[in-house]
Amino acid sequence: MTAPAYRRILLKLSGEALMGAGAHGIDPDVLERFAREVKGLVDLGVQVALVIGGGNIFRGSGLAARGMDRVTGDQMGMLATVMNALAMQDTLERLGTPVCVMSALRIGQVCEDYIRRRALLHLERGCVVILAAGTGNPFFTTDSAASLRAIEIGADLLIKATKVDGVYSADPVTEPGATFYPRISYDQALREGLKVMDATAIVLCRDHGMPLRVMNINEPGALSRLIRGEDVGSLVVSGS
Ligand code: UDP
Repeated sequence: MTAPAYRRILLKLSGEALMGAGAHGIDPDVLERFAREVKGLVDLGVQVALVIGGGNIFRGSGLAARGMDRVTGDQMGMLATVMNALAMQDTLERLGTPVCVMSALRIGQVCEDYIRRRALLHLERGCVVILAAGTGNPFFTTDSAASLRAIEIGADLLIKATKVDGVYSADPVTEPGATFYPRISYDQALREGLKVMDATAIVLCRDHGMPLRVMNINEPGALSRLIRGEDVGSLVVSGS
C-alpha cells in the first residue's frame, strides 16, 4: 500500500454536502460515508483536522437579508456548524476513530474550546480534530476558518471537498462546456472570481503559501487517492 504523501491535512466539508439529496439538515448515510473516508485517512496514519460548514442548517446572511441583525445571524450560523461537528464526532466515534470537537465559541459543556496547542496534541495522538464555530467571528465563512486553521496548525495541505470535480471556469452543472483547471494560481482564481473559496480564504492561503486542493467528495475513494499523492481534482498554488 502506498504511504500517504501528507503528514497533516485540513479537510473542509461544506454543510450543504451533508444534506445529500435533502433540502436541509443531515443525511445520516451521507454523514457515515464521509466519516468512513476520514477514517480511511486516519488509518493510513494521516493527522486530520476537519472544518465543517453550517449551510445545511443556517447561514447568517439569509435572515440578515430579511432584517435580522447580521451578527446575531452569524452567531446562529456558527452554532449550526457546532451541530454538524457533533454529528460527525458521533459518527466517527461509532466507527472507532478517536475524535474531538474544539469550538471557536465557548460552549464548554458541549465540547472543548479551540486552543491551538491542544489541537496539535490531539492531532499528534491520532485524534481527528473537528474545528467548529468557524473563526468565532461574524462576517467570516467556514472557508476562511479552514484557511486560517490550516495555516495555524501547519497543515501540509488544505482540501476543499465539494460536489464538483475541482475548479472550473464556470459552474459545470449549469454550463456543461466550462473548462476544468487541473492547476491554477490563487491570483487567477481571484482575478476571474472562480468558485474556489471566498476571497478572504484564498488570500490567506496565497499570503501564507498554503497549497489548496479542490476535489469531489462524492467520488468514492478520491480522497484516499489524493492523500496517496495522486493528482486528484484541482491544485491551487502560487504563480501568475
Ligand atoms: N460563520 C461566521 N463566522 C465564521 C464562520 C461561519 O459567522 O467564521 C457563520 C455565517 O453566518 C455562515 C454560517 O456560519 O453563513 C455557516 O457557515 P458557511 O456559510 O461557511 O457554511 P458552508 O457554506 O460551508 O456550509
